[in-house]
Amino acid sequence: MGELIFTGNFTQQEAIPEEAINRAVSVMRSGRLHRYNTVEGEVSETALLESEFADWLGVDYCLACASGGYALQTALRAFGLRPGEPVLTNAFTLSPVPGAIWGAGGMPVLIETTPDLVIDLGSLEKSISDTGARILLMSHMRGHLADMDAVCDLLDRRGVALIEDCAHTMGASWRGRASGTFGIAACFSTQTYKHMNSGEGGLLVSQDSALFARAVLLSGSYMFYGHHLAAPGADAYAGVQFTTPNCSGRMDEVRAAILRVQLRTLNENVERWNERYKCVAETISGVQGIRLPARPNDERFVGSSIQFHCAVTSEEEATDLVKRCRKRGVVLKWFGADAPSGYTSTHLHWNYLPDRPLPQTDTILRTLFDMRLPLTFSLEDCRLIGAIIKQSINEVLAKPSSAE
Ligand SMILES: *Cc1c(COP(=O)(O)O)cnc(C)c1O
Repeated sequence: MGELIFTGNFTQQEAIPEEAINRAVSVMRSGRLHRYNTVEGEVSETALLESEFADWLGVDYCLACASGGYALQTALRAFGLRPGEPVLTNAFTLSPVPGAIWGAGGMPVLIETTPDLVIDLGSLEKSISDTGARILLMSHMRGHLADMDAVCDLLDRRGVALIEDCAHTMGASWRGRASGTFGIAACFSTQTYKHMNSGEGGLLVSQDSALFARAVLLSGSYMFYGHHLAAPGADAYAGVQFTTPNCSGRMDEVRAAILRVQLRTLNENVERWNERYKCVAETISGVQGIRLPARPNDERFVGSSIQFHCAVTSEEEATDLVKRCRKRGVVLKWFGADAPSGYTSTHLHWNYLPDRPLPQTDTILRTLFDMRLPLTFSLEDCRLIGAIIKQSINEVLAKPSSAE
């Protein structure tokens, strides 16, 4: 086999659609970029986005925010998180998740992950008993959905509330029920690398009118909460409008305008991501030494990235694999690295948290590799990427280990 080389860019997203650009330009021409800066009879782009996103997901309420992390903080504050209160969350997640808990004044309690990259229910139940936590901020990290029936049963039985972090599951579902509809609130991100792209941005959804009214006030609605469409009526704000602080973090009209156009092709894009995922998965799944996390039939996922376990036995082998792929143009991240790099860090690097041994998660992360699948890649690109990974793994695992 000749040398395989891929020349695509793993962080290159698709361009913003022309129609979205035109809308953004007309918002800018109007000068009215603030969501509450509307003229008589005008409904803001932001209120329309909230309403359209709520319809798309099948929920009543949606609030557009400055970022996904801000939406998470706001959901926790609106829930009524008390200073220093423990908040359960996945150990395998991205740093803004424990950061949001910290920012809202809570104390993250990290829960073990399974080899299929979902929350470990045994560890979850034990941590509920150990800490008496009232809330789980569940991160569907890299789009892997846990058995949501089992999670909800356990939380119901223990009286624990659920907030979902759906940064990687916009468009995903469990047994036909959309991710983001299982808890008292859920948060999505529209940051560039997620499933819709407004540079930065977040969406908080809920079916709970009291929690949601507090979230709207917290986001900085002043006395304009009546301008929201996907929101409860004035009654819901009655007892709380003067006791809820304004923690300013609204979305602006330019971002909302470009997201409204993108929402229309989101379902189509989910299919396109999954075609790409399938191409890579099929190419690498039979390779000796590779294991892909199970994807249960009940899970409909969005394949905007792919993860696999590779039977590397040392840091040397893992970095050798990353280097060989890199040389051929394929950018893999390894979750077992000692030092954080780029966006990839693990609980071992979040040293503002108290030490908590997570031996199961550490073992799993040591053999775990991760790769983005932007829509700018063709299916042919994805097959080539798969072939490069396969070739590189064969070389690394064929080499006699230096310890022998
Ligand atoms: C990106 C991300 C967030 C935070 O979203 P931002 O919009 O970047 O603040 C939260 N959770 C996960 C898993 C993410 O990947």
